[in-house]
Amino acid sequence: MKQICILIPTYNEQEALPYLYERLNRITNQLTNYAFTFLFVNDGSTDDTLATIKKMQQQDYRVRFVNLSRNYGKEIAMIAGFDHACADATILLDADLQDPPEIIVQMLEYWECGYEDVYAKRISRKGETWFKKWSSKKYYEVLQKMATIDIPKDTGDFRLLDRKCVEALKEIRETQRYTKGLFSFVGFKKKEILFERDARVAGSTKWNYKKLFQLAIDGITSFSVAPLRLASIAGAGILVITILTLLFIFIESIFLGRAPTGTMGIVTVILFLGGVQLISIGLLGEYIGRIFMETKNRPLYFVESHTEQVVYQDKSRKIG
Ligand code: UDP
Ligand code: MG
Repeated sequence: MKQICILIPTYNEQEALPYLYERLNRITNQLTNYAFTFLFVNDGSTDDTLATIKKMQQQDYRVRFVNLSRNYGKEIAMIAGFDHACADATILLDADLQDPPEIIVQMLEYWECGYEDVYAKRISRKGETWFKKWSSKKYYEVLQKMATIDIPKDTGDFRLLDRKCVEALKEIRETQRYTKGLFSFVGFKKKEILFERDARVAGSTKWNYKKLFQLAIDGITSFSVAPLRLASIAGAGILVITILTLLFIFIESIFLGRAPTGTMGIVTVILFLGGVQLISIGLLGEYIGRIFMETKNRPLYFVESHTEQVVYQDKSRKIG
């Protein structure tokens, strides 16, 4: 029987877990041709998430967990899950039931047809603010234009990945992860499924705007050097304007005998240049900061406990 791992990053989801388990149970019981495991990555939850998972595990042998030593964020929780998945196909699912598990049936059908990355694209998203929807839409438009690879719009992490994709993703050990881009980066045969994103079943979103902004910056800087180029182009443009202005002042003072007057113009030019320079330095800093983070070559995460002993990846170690 083919092994399917349903990978669920969880952070303070104690209220949502019973609903999730219930839905997963119902669907997977209908799919008798597959052997399922539900792999929960507990991303340093401070509520009773771990205890809830352990309780589920006692009742259902399919439940497994990896308990990270602290909260690392969803991007790292996902790679920790990939490292521990070892199945023929892995399905990434949010714990809050925003991604309807019923779609798994369709995902598996496409997988059987030979698709290796079956991703779910939202046609609508319920229970989210207009600002989140709008900013997300605009961000993906910008990212699409800048990135060197094609990152599909309105697509989250909800997808089925063949073992080949998971193995490929496991090889990418960068610390500032933008997994949505990595799915595209690794390639393989992709298929899109459309779905309506539901509102959260319980609890509240674990992403605040600060975290989302961080992810947005990671997305652009890990897949594009366009902002750096933009800074150079802006610099060059300003230089040309400055040269023309200087030429104008020079001609005016030599041939018309009019010396330039007023400090306002000078101040404006200085402020303008200062702003552009600061932005450029900041941008350089963003990239250099990332080089710094990568050169430290730290393990991506530490595991505090998990359901069974597994072969660890080179950079993840067990402590305690
Ligand atoms: N999550 C996580 N670590 C975090 C934040 C979130 O593992 O630091 C999990 C969370 O439990 C959920 C999924 O990632 O299963 C998506 O998070 P959330 O629903 O809060 O994000 P949203 O859907 O609002 O973008
Ligand atoms: Mg959610």
